[in-house]
Amino acid sequence: MPAQILDGKAVAKAIKEKLAAGFAALKFKPKLVSFAVGVDDGTTSYRKSQKKQAEALGVAYEMVDLPESATAEQVVSRLRELNGDPGVTGIILQLPVPKHLNGEQLARLIAPQKNIEGIDEVNLGAIVMKKYRNIPCTARAAVELAAHSGVDLNGANAVVIGRSTIVGKPASLLLLDRNCTVTMCHSKSKNLKEIAKSADVLVTAIGTKAGMVTGDWIKPGAVVVDVGIIDIGEGKIRGDVDFDSASQVAGWITPVPGGVGPVTTQMLYMNLLDAAKVQQ
Ligand code: NAD
Repeated sequence: MPAQILDGKAVAKAIKEKLAAGFAALKFKPKLVSFAVGVDDGTTSYRKSQKKQAEALGVAYEMVDLPESATAEQVVSRLRELNGDPGVTGIILQLPVPKHLNGEQLARLIAPQKNIEGIDEVNLGAIVMKKYRNIPCTARAAVELAAHSGVDLNGANAVVIGRSTIVGKPASLLLLDRNCTVTMCHSKSKNLKEIAKSADVLVTAIGTKAGMVTGDWIKPGAVVVDVGIIDIGEGKIRGDVDFDSASQVAGWITPVPGGVGPVTTQMLYMNLLDAAKVQQ
């Protein structure tokens, strides 16, 4: 029997409703700052959709822009001002930044309680300590979707392919906290296919070859969450998983597009809501 689809758009819609109720219950209007260096104007599609959703949730959205020629000192100084501004609840650094700057390093300078993308030592360390703060959005979305299948994660064998700081590692830790037995794989792993085949829950966050994980890698009935995004040209994207063959074997599967992506966006606002509650 073909797998059931873990529909990211439907899950995102349900989360949006919860978020709306959560933001409405706050005693203040939170503010999200989109900080960018070298972006011509505020019209990039990503920022447009951030703004639209912020407004729908009753969140103030401010774009703070520095010119492409801004020095590292100027960027750090502006970031520190935003960190210290009590009117700012959350900050997103829009990537990429111009070549003379280091985006990853700059993002780590955002104050941890305002770093709603959660990619810094404090927020990542907090996951290890099981004291969740801002959780990396894609990892959180992947685990949310796996849980949405309704399959009992307690004691399940989870295999995560990919060990990046933003997806693979935090997703593994989150699954561990859901009582999965977790195996983390990467580009140097041996017997990848056999390991994948042992998974009750398979999360792929690779991004090198569209459809590299085929149906013969999947345990019958498994939950498959495909984080990968590979541009296959003509404006189309595919995931790490070969959907056609994998969906004949899996019990549950996320499509690409329409799986992890839409839920990731909601997780950003989930982190903002959590941050607002703490700051309140
Ligand atoms: P990354 O390049 O930082 O990490 C990729 C990981 O895959 C590495 O740990 C590497 O060891 C592993 N890997 C590479 N080739 C492999 C192979 N042949 N076999 C096994 N493991 C292999 O990437 P990332 O930032 O973690 O992103 C992973 C994918 O997820 C990308 O396609 C990215 O576009 C996508 N992504 C999606 C979202 C979303 O919202 N859906 C968000 C972030 C990233």
